[in-house]
Amino acid sequence: MEMDTVIGLEIHAQLNTRTKLFCPCPTEFGAEPNTNICEVCTGQPGALPRMNGLALELAAKAGLALGSRVNERSLFSRKNYFYPDLPNGFQTSQLDPPVCEGGGLEITSDDGSPKRVRLNRIHMEDDAGKCVHDERRGITLVDLNRAGTPLIEIVTEPDISSAREAVEFLRKLHGLLVRLGVTRGRMEEGEFRCDVNISLKPKGSPVLGVRGEIKNLNSFRFVGQAIEYEIGRQSGIYAAGGRVLQETLHFDSQKGETRSLRSKEEAHDYRYFPQPDLPPVYISPDLVERLRLELPEGPEEAADRLLSLGLKDVQAQLLMERRGALEYFDSAVAAFPGTSGGTARTAALMEELFLPHCQKEGISPLESPFTPDLMAKLAGLHEDGTLGRRKVQELAEQLFSGGLDPVKVVRDRGLAQISDEGELGRMAREVVEAHPEEAAKYRSGQEKILSFLVGRLMKLSAGRAEPRRAGELLRAALSGDGDGGGEGN
Ligand SMILES: [Zn+2]
Repeated sequence: MEMDTVIGLEIHAQLNTRTKLFCPCPTEFGAEPNTNICEVCTGQPGALPRMNGLALELAAKAGLALGSRVNERSLFSRKNYFYPDLPNGFQTSQLDPPVCEGGGLEITSDDGSPKRVRLNRIHMEDDAGKCVHDERRGITLVDLNRAGTPLIEIVTEPDISSAREAVEFLRKLHGLLVRLGVTRGRMEEGEFRCDVNISLKPKGSPVLGVRGEIKNLNSFRFVGQAIEYEIGRQSGIYAAGGRVLQETLHFDSQKGETRSLRSKEEAHDYRYFPQPDLPPVYISPDLVERLRLELPEGPEEAADRLLSLGLKDVQAQLLMERRGALEYFDSAVAAFPGTSGGTARTAALMEELFLPHCQKEGISPLESPFTPDLMAKLAGLHEDGTLGRRKVQELAEQLFSGGLDPVKVVRDRGLAQISDEGELGRMAREVVEAHPEEAAKYRSGQEKILSFLVGRLMKLSAGRAEPRRAGELLRAALSGDGDGGGEGN
């Protein structure tokens, strides 16, 4: 039987604040265990929480950028459960009303048409601490540094139909929230992670199937793998006439498979009730208006703008997905000498060389010592023909990691491409004379031999010839038109 896949996502994003949600403890990552804690975030009796105003603004900002309605009044509730790294015995979260409701984000569906993934809600909550299992000593330790860290949870409607769509949605959402400054989005530190709800149903059926919930995925790749695995697992059960159980699953990234954590029978009853220690949260229309004015352009506007600048689809996508890439691109284009803007050159350099370099180094483009101003200079040297494609590729790593000024490097090392036609023409004739056999073969119709001669000419010019022009001049030299092209340029 043909089945439809139905996927909904719950995304946890750590809000970009310096202090926790209900106390002034720092949110920094990697501190000594149990040093960033106080009586509030360790759940001491009688300690009173106070809400971090910046966290509320960031949550509302996320909602505004995603087209959600920001509720003027929302409420914190206690979500009760026991876990050793949850000293309060409850998580402080929002049930009803949450800070934002509705909204959505557009992706490209598998059939290529645009598709809007609707959001159900965005609510605020605090994070739990962390259990550290010491296998060697056979004990478990608790680190509460993370307890009380502010999060938003973004819950989508079940509008996603494949692993690819889920990953595209997450990449877009991640890029947007990072550009907004809502989260720093460092996935390896757990600042952006997601739960996947997934079920199958007979093709076209309006009734949803029983779903599995895969918990806590913190890489786009794992999300894709986990969904593919789960589609296979569930369809295998249906094909064998079995019944899919509603359960909570863990994805084992080593083995590439999901396994059950608990079934519905054991599922929690959280017994939500309003948190009596916190008053309702109010956001004034004035504040919402101010936040709206602070919003950068939305993803759809940004995409339209980039495409109208003549960027390729894949380049626009990359600039929007990678943290800091769009800001870097805009600064580089603004700094480009002359009026042509250098947009195409800059986009190509970033796509092919710079962004892969940054990814390898694990840095955001804006953290690179190769600043947008230097990128503008490099694009300029490429655009005016001073540096050919091959030279740019050769120099890229050095320039990027050292933050070197390309103009200075070209001058100091005498790298400028030879644009003197006379000099290059002389070299072409020299190459032809030095290789009479190859020249004869070419003249007898073996045109492929030309690439060999181009190679010789590149070598003779120490890589400073533009390969296409080198080919033209060689052809001219071989046909006996010794003076070489007079087409200028
Ligand atoms: Zn604290």
